[in-house]
Amino acid sequence: MLALVKTKKGPGNLELMEMPEPKPQAGEVLIRVHVCGVCGTDIHVLHDRFPYWPPVILGHEFAGEIVEIGADVNNFKVGDRVVGEPHTQACGKCTLCRTGNIQICPMKRSPGWGIHGGMAPFLKMPEMLLHKIPENISWEEAALIEPLANTVHDIIERAKIYAGDFVSITGPGPIGLLAALVCKAAGARGVMLIGTGQDEAIRLKKARELGIDRVINLEREDPVQAALEMTDGAGIDLAIDASGAAPAIALAVELIRKKGRICAIGLTSRDKIEFPWDKAMFKVADLFFNLSTSYTSWETSIRLVASGRIQLKPLISHARPLSEWESVFKAIEELKVIKAVLLP
Ligand SMILES: [Zn+2]
Ligand SMILES: [Zn+2]
Repeated sequence: MLALVKTKKGPGNLELMEMPEPKPQAGEVLIRVHVCGVCGTDIHVLHDRFPYWPPVILGHEFAGEIVEIGADVNNFKVGDRVVGEPHTQACGKCTLCRTGNIQICPMKRSPGWGIHGGMAPFLKMPEMLLHKIPENISWEEAALIEPLANTVHDIIERAKIYAGDFVSITGPGPIGLLAALVCKAAGARGVMLIGTGQDEAIRLKKARELGIDRVINLEREDPVQAALEMTDGAGIDLAIDASGAAPAIALAVELIRKKGRICAIGLTSRDKIEFPWDKAMFKVADLFFNLSTSYTSWETSIRLVASGRIQLKPLISHARPLSEWESVFKAIEELKVIKAVLLP
């Protein structure tokens, strides 16, 4: 089968090449991949900025149909439409696994960097990580359940958004836009999305089309002033950072009210950043760090999309055959993409 493979260590070394079809073992299923989303992680692996074990097929945001089941598969059958949590090779035995935190098990190696992923016609997965997708969710939308589950886990389950909250989001990439949709679905009273001049043409335009309450271009408007206007002088209840940019994280402390919360979604890719510690202390702020997804965040995400409370279609700007991966990756790096999916 023709798959997109990171062939060896170093920047580049990504090739569409023939790979053997996977064979499902006991407890596993074989999935015919219909769609696989392109994530920041895939771009980081391309440039050698994320751990990976080559040769490895990229892609963890897959959606597909089960075409074969291995021995001892009990809850899934051929023909089921599925997506899957990328927590493969979690040990199931350590304290984290036993306390329901398999997503941060030290043994975990996900499809797309640790083991073969979904940028190929077929992928094998353990049944214990799968979730069924109802008929009214399209394949393209299903491929976005994984990034959506990240934002649901971080914002609803960890930072505990309340109905009526005023929310700010820094970073209008796909995760920032999904975060805005989650906040609206969770009953936020006002959502402010903040980006820079380079986001104006595509991402901030999309945010305005999506009906986000306040869309701020940092080069034109002062976000602190806008936050005070939106909240009648009170300040933001929950500031979400989906950028990983140090100035945006510092801005979150400025934006929140006393006893406000900060939800960190973006990685900074640095050892240290400057943080206004005393200001956060005087505000008695809560700061939530996050990584990956929980079982419940996948089920919540599927329900939010299936019920129409979250519309994913407007976020999919590119759906292209796998053979066009190179131009799609390039467009993502040039910020010309909202969210891209590949069709193996
Ligand atoms: Zn992802
Ligand atoms: Zn474990």
